Amino acid sequence: MTSSATNLLEFDLDGLAGFCERLGEKRFRATQLFRWIHQRGESDFDGMSDLAKSLREKLKTTAVIQALPVLSQHESADGTIKWLFDVGNGDAVEAVFIPEDDRGTLCVSSQAGCAVGCRFCATGHQGFSRNLTTAEILAQLWFAEHFLRRHLNRSGKNADERVISNVVMMGMGEPLQNYSALVPALRTMLDDHAYGLSRRRVTVSTSGVVPMMDRLSQEVPVALAVSLHAPNDSLRDGLVPLNKKYPLAELMSACQRYLEFAPRDFITFEYCMLDGVNDSPEQARQLIDLVSSFVPTQSGRRDWCKFNLIPFNPFAASGLHRSSAAAVQQFSQVLIEAGWVTTVRKTRGDDIDAACGQLAGDVKDRTRAQDRMAALRQNGVIPLHPVTDL
Ligand code: SAH
Ligand code: SF4
Repeated sequence: MTSSATNLLEFDLDGLAGFCERLGEKRFRATQLFRWIHQRGESDFDGMSDLAKSLREKLKTTAVIQALPVLSQHESADGTIKWLFDVGNGDAVEAVFIPEDDRGTLCVSSQAGCAVGCRFCATGHQGFSRNLTTAEILAQLWFAEHFLRRHLNRSGKNADERVISNVVMMGMGEPLQNYSALVPALRTMLDDHAYGLSRRRVTVSTSGVVPMMDRLSQEVPVALAVSLHAPNDSLRDGLVPLNKKYPLAELMSACQRYLEFAPRDFITFEYCMLDGVNDSPEQARQLIDLVSSFVPTQSGRRDWCKFNLIPFNPFAASGLHRSSAAAVQQFSQVLIEAGWVTTVRKTRGDDIDAACGQLAGDVKDRTRAQDRMAALRQNGVIPLHPVTDL
């Protein structure tokens, strides 16, 4: 491997086929290679036993399957696991695995920091460092899936069985402000030769980047979650600054257009419940007025959207507080009585700060990050690249 080696985690299947062609190999070789990487979690070309020796040799000099160094791993009492990955220059991003009875969800980051700067979000307060590459987005899934397969107590289960059934782009960053890296990552998640997730089990969450919502609907129409948080422009302008660029009327029209490509789908509206800011019954009624005026008229269906009320996860710098349980209950009741499907998000991984908006990945000081990594390596406690067993 050379320092200019290409990281194969950068490619969806089409991209990998192009790479193989440039090596003078047939496109179908890419499918074999893709399966080794993503389905088997293999990172050593010599381990890819059914690839011709000549191809393996070529790959060894031109390519690499490069995971991200793991800075830390925390496991919550409820089974939630949070990893902090080093993405260089003192930046770190987080991914969170949330096990439930019927699914395993991985929450993935798309950027180091975020430029949108929402008032209630720790990532937003941290500012924007840079976009992640496709390889850095996929490395989170690649690592988590294969790590969990090896380490979960899987008594009686097939070690090849998938652990992660759902991916949500709800970690650090605004995925639709990193569109060109996001799309190949999503395609790989959906590809039957890789993770084979159905498009309804992959969710992109956005604060409302309208033009990119339109592109996504045409290129990879996965499930969409829209972070609403307010029923009117004046309140939303103050909470989600992107609202000044794409106000609610435009955002709601984009939601309607999104559903034209997937008419039986729904959009999830996320609504972070902030004490005394956006949680009154009157504001719930305004929210109903807002979405009612956008019901797809031809069907009149009310199941085109769902509300997910998220109890605010406080952090000191925000100066904001979580709504009381009674306020959340009352707010949801108003929506439910008007016929809108509404759920309240369970908070998970509270003891390890793994919840929405708490992902700050604050390893800004590169010296400290490197000291920390060296210490971890020395103790041999934490798996670092190349991935070793815990
Ligand atoms: N940038 C995208 C996706 C990442 S944020 C977006 O904003 O949608 C994922 C979700 O966490 C969003 O709905 C966001 O509004 C919510 N969130 C952010 N900070 C939060 C906090 N402190 N408490 C609860 N939810 C929060
Ligand atoms: Fe960025 Fe989403 Fe946080 Fe807003 S809520 S600052 S868009 S990560």
